[in-house]
Amino acid sequence: MVASGIDGESQGHAPANAITPAKETPMPNHLWMTEDHRAFAETVARFYTEEMQPNREKWTADGVVPRDFWRKAGDLGILGATAPEAYGGLGLSRHFDAVTFIEQGKAGDSGWGVSVHNIAMHYILAFGTEAQKHAWIPKLVSGEHIAAIAMTEPGTGSDLQAVRTTAIKDGNEYVINGSKTFITNGGSADILLLVAKTDPKSRSKGISLLIVETNDLAGYAVGKRLKKLGMKRNDTAELSFDNVRVPLTALLGSEEGQGFYQLMKQLPWERLIVGYMSLAASECAMRVTLDYVKERKAFGQRVMDFQNTRFKLAEAQTKIELLAAFLDQCLAELDLGQLTPEKAAMAKWWGTQMQCDIIDECLQLHGGYGYMSEYLISELYADARVQKIYGGTNEIMKEIIARDLDRD
Ligand SMILES: Cc1cc2nc3c(=O)[nH]c(=O)nc-3n(C[C@H](O)[C@H](O)[C@H](O)COP(=O)(O)OP(=O)(O)OC[C@H]3O[C@@H](n4cnc5c(N)ncnc54)[C@H](O)[C@@H]3O)c2cc1C
Repeated sequence: MVASGIDGESQGHAPANAITPAKETPMPNHLWMTEDHRAFAETVARFYTEEMQPNREKWTADGVVPRDFWRKAGDLGILGATAPEAYGGLGLSRHFDAVTFIEQGKAGDSGWGVSVHNIAMHYILAFGTEAQKHAWIPKLVSGEHIAAIAMTEPGTGSDLQAVRTTAIKDGNEYVINGSKTFITNGGSADILLLVAKTDPKSRSKGISLLIVETNDLAGYAVGKRLKKLGMKRNDTAELSFDNVRVPLTALLGSEEGQGFYQLMKQLPWERLIVGYMSLAASECAMRVTLDYVKERKAFGQRVMDFQNTRFKLAEAQTKIELLAAFLDQCLAELDLGQLTPEKAAMAKWWGTQMQCDIIDECLQLHGGYGYMSEYLISELYADARVQKIYGGTNEIMKEIIARDLDRD
């Protein structure tokens, strides 16, 4: 029994969502990886094998990864690897988070919303007051709390400056009204990084971010869990706010109107994460496809023996190596505080486009079995599509790059 579900005897009728590679395939050599990174990667990989893989089917049907899984990840240091030790983390560099996202993708999963949780945590670390960091970071590190980021609304996604959710000062509270949609971890979130207008008459300068604790919050409601093309284990929800009152200390940082600036500062990290997830999902697709084409026979030979197969896989492997080199360059720049929004946009659009192209070719090489749900490649195919949409659509990414080219 191998990763792609081909069991040799039945020529492709075995269930397939367990992903244990028959043999390691050549994968990018991330030069920044030390023994410590590799040990951490093994921890994350083992965690996936032991805790996610046996439950995959159930959690896919449930449409959510349970809290217990988050707590276990917290216990292993996966959630808090890059949070400073003062807030309960391990105080390591962003490379360790990259390891987590690479291992998640290699495990063929994009349903667990750990990336959004991580991004939310880094907003608080970057812009929060000491009191906010001490109040929230330890709980995010331990997995006691789950975080979400609520930007998108039914009426606006790409045009963030047009958000209509308001947070208006009233005495020593903000009163929040509005709704959000497509929110990853939305139904589970204990903490929301909420994008709202504290000055509804302004566009970007009217935007602030608020840290909203959702438990027992009057006027706050989570709508139905949204049914999606892919990422079925991910809890994606609509949220609504009807005169929700939060203390003024919910404002991220200490100055109103900083939200747009804060978003622009953090989005490069989010986009680099999407790039790494693209890379790792592509690696996973290659691995299950290599297993498949080496076993499947047609016209008396292995599918691997057709020149078309060999060339398609050679092309895909080349793209994976190129993507890895570019992402690693971006990660090094991020570490030095030099990653520009334009480069992060390149990593996001090109990475996700490569992922969709590679997975499409890999599915094709599975023939009809690739279209069957019990084959992991079909899940990878469905999961991949949204990568070109969230985190800023790929059209918006190209706008960011072009705007820079058009600057005098
Ligand atoms: C599974 C999933 C999870 C998500 N998770 C989150 C989350 O956790 N938090 C969150 O806040 N949001 C989340 N989103 C929302 C996501 O970020 C938005 O869907 C995305 O930003 C696009 O916004 P929109 O859907 O309103 O599309 P629109 O902005 O309406 O865009 C529609 C089309 O028009 C194009 N377009 C728009 N403006 C331009 C332009 N200036 N130039 C060229 N083309 C343009 C777009 O590229 C797109 O093709 C998620 C979405 C999905 C599907």
